[in-house]
Amino acid sequence: MPELPEVETVRRGLEQHVAGRTIDTVRVLHPRAVRRQPAGAAEFESALAGRSLGSARRRGKYLWLSVGEDALLAHLGMSGQLLVVEPDQPLSPHVRIWFTFCGGGADLRFTDQRTFGHMCVVRDGAELPAPIAHIAPDPFEPAFDQGALITRLRGRRTGIKRALLDQSLISGVGNIYADEALWRARLHWARPAETLTGPEASRLLSAVRDVLGEALAVGGTSFDDLYVNVNGESGYFERSLAVYGREGFPCLRCGTPVRRDPFMNRSAYSCPRCQPRPRQ
Ligand SMILES: [Zn+2]
Repeated sequence: MPELPEVETVRRGLEQHVAGRTIDTVRVLHPRAVRRQPAGAAEFESALAGRSLGSARRRGKYLWLSVGEDALLAHLGMSGQLLVVEPDQPLSPHVRIWFTFCGGGADLRFTDQRTFGHMCVVRDGAELPAPIAHIAPDPFEPAFDQGALITRLRGRRTGIKRALLDQSLISGVGNIYADEALWRARLHWARPAETLTGPEASRLLSAVRDVLGEALAVGGTSFDDLYVNVNGESGYFERSLAVYGREGFPCLRCGTPVRRDPFMNRSAYSCPRCQPRPRQ
């Protein structure tokens, strides 16, 4: 699933290519893509036609464009892409929602092979759409409060990787960047959050911020070419990953083969030497 750097890359593209333009037509080509819209596709289309898009914003893995007082909210799911495409380009079979703009120019096409992503219009959501108000600020937002987060983190009776993935605690971090941050901070993913010292928690959050920032600087990580910017281009942080997806390859710090453990139906990658398993 795209994480903060991939979603922020898309947000920047929307800000550059779509913000400030007026929608001409909206066509929902697959109802599943608007399944969160209370009255369905017709409501989605009529709520947007003829309206101007304001700035593009993001919280965690969600992004939205203001539409007057309202918001056009998007979640990319597993495979969603928001692509800015010249109108004469053929429509791919995976386009789910198709926006054209007044005055011509490039279209916006929400393309989603697996249709786990979605878009909806949220009334009065321009500042912060209600459906995502429970999501915690991400490390790049002004509202992010590291001191308060450390206190909450150390109050959790759960492993630290699970805590990092809890979007009500900190948003934008998924499986990839959690593993990378834990490796940088030399902490095992199963370490109980309540046993972290203050300095360890600070080190972990600094690592989270660093890895997200570095990934963002190169357009994120593109697995299977799924996570792309609005022009369809891949990011290249994959080549900088230290542990994620590198089972059996040497740790970049100490040379010990990276290990993979099952974790919440997925995997956790770590170095057995730099990140020793906590004692039971
Ligand atoms: Zn190591």
